[in-house]
Amino acid sequence: MTNQTLIDADRSLLWHPYASMVDPPPVFPVVCARGVRLTLADGRELIDGMASWWCAIHGYNHPVLNAAVGAQLEDMAHVMFGGLTHEPAVRLAQKLVDITPRDLQTVFFADSGSVSVEVAIKMAIQYWAAKGRPGKQKLLTIRQGYHGDTFGAMAVCDPVTGMHSLFRDVLPEHYFADTPGIRFGEEWDDDDIESLKALAESRHDEIAAVILEPVVQGAGGMWFYSPAYLDRVRQICDEFDLLLVFDEIATGFGRTGKLFACEHTRISPDIMCLGKALTGGYMTMAATLTTARVADTISAEGKGVFMHGPTFMANPLACAVALASIDLLEQTGWEQRVAEIQAQLQDELARCRELDNVVDVRVLGAIGVVEVDRPVDMHVVPRRFVDQGVWIRPFGRLIYIMPPYIIDANDLTRLTSAMYHVVVKLSH
Ligand SMILES: *Cc1c(COP(=O)(O)O)cnc(C)c1O
Repeated sequence: MTNQTLIDADRSLLWHPYASMVDPPPVFPVVCARGVRLTLADGRELIDGMASWWCAIHGYNHPVLNAAVGAQLEDMAHVMFGGLTHEPAVRLAQKLVDITPRDLQTVFFADSGSVSVEVAIKMAIQYWAAKGRPGKQKLLTIRQGYHGDTFGAMAVCDPVTGMHSLFRDVLPEHYFADTPGIRFGEEWDDDDIESLKALAESRHDEIAAVILEPVVQGAGGMWFYSPAYLDRVRQICDEFDLLLVFDEIATGFGRTGKLFACEHTRISPDIMCLGKALTGGYMTMAATLTTARVADTISAEGKGVFMHGPTFMANPLACAVALASIDLLEQTGWEQRVAEIQAQLQDELARCRELDNVVDVRVLGAIGVVEVDRPVDMHVVPRRFVDQGVWIRPFGRLIYIMPPYIIDANDLTRLTSAMYHVVVKLSH
C-alpha cells in the first residue's frame, strides 16, 4: 500500500481512540519502531516521547523481549486458564508478589487495565458481601481520576472530564472527593484530606473501597500530589472499614522514580492494579493483586468463588514477555536512569514557565508536563511535533512526555526543545 492509500483506507475503516469517523485528526502510518525511534511510512524518523502511553519503557524491538516472545511461541501461544496452568503464569505471579508491597499475596491476570479495575471493584464488593455486609457496594474516589473506559472503570473517572454525562443512566453513582491540592514535594496540611474524610465518615456503610491513582493522576489531569495524602487515606480506610485500591496501571514499573508509586509512602493497599508497562509494551496484559485477607474472605465464605474469568486470562506469551521485561528492568539500573531523566526534564522544561500561555510546568520521575492556558487543537499540533521529528501527543491543555527509560540525553533534549517551540508557537 502507498502511504496515501493506507491513510485513506484507515479513514474510512478504522476508529482511533476518542476519535470521530468524520473529519478525524491526522494519523501517521508507522512501519517500524526500534529503540526510541518510530519510522513513518514516508521515511521520516520520530523520537518517541510517549512510550506508547506509558508502556514501552525499554523502547521498541528490544532483542531480549523479542527472544522471550519467540521462545514462548515455540511451546505455546495460548491455552485456556480454566483448569490448566503453566510456568510463565506461575513465575510471573511469584515475581509480582515479590516486587510489590508485602501484603499483596495473590494475582488475578486480566487482559487490559480497565478490566483489572473492574476486577478490583468486584473483589472489594465480594469481600464485603462475604463479610455479611452486602450494602457496601459504592466506591469513593477523587476528582480528576482516570481508571479506564469500561463501565465500572468509567464510573470512577472524573465526573466532569470523564464520560458521566453521556452515560448517566447506566453508570452507577459513586462518591467523589476533591482532588488533592497539595503537590508532590510541598508541605502537608491536614485540610487537604477533609473532603475525602467527610465522605468516608458519612457514607462508610455504603462504601466498599477507596480507589485512586497513587501520587500521579494520569489521563485525568497529569497531576502530582503529596504522598502524605495516601497515608491519611490509609488511616481513614482502616478507621471506617473501607478497602484501599491503588490503580498503578500508569505509575507502575519505575515511572515516578520508585518501582511503584505507593513506595513514596510506607503504606500498602489492599488491592493493586498493574498494566501498561507490565509487558514492556509488547502485549496487552494487566494484573490485580490482593492480600491474603481479601482472597481468603472471598473464597471461604458466601459463594466462595471470585466471579471473573477472561478468555485470554494469563496468556503465556504475555506472561513470558512480562517476566523478561521485569528482569530487564531489574538489570538495567532504571532507578539511576529515571532520576537522570527527571533532572534533565526539570532543567530543560523550566524555560517554558516564562511563556505567557503556560499555566504550569511539572516533572516527576520520567514524566514532564507543560500545562497551557487553552485546549490544544489536535488537527494542528501533532503535525507540528511530527515536523520537528518527535512523537508527542497532547490532550486538552496538557503537553507532556513520558519517554522510554533508554532514551539518551540528546534525544531527550530534542523532545523538550520541540515542546518549547510548539508552546511558543501556540502563544502567537
Ligand atoms: C490506561 C489506564 C487504565 C486503563 O487501562 P487500559 O489498558 O487502557 O484498559 C486504567 N487506569 C489508569 C491509571 C490508566 O492509566
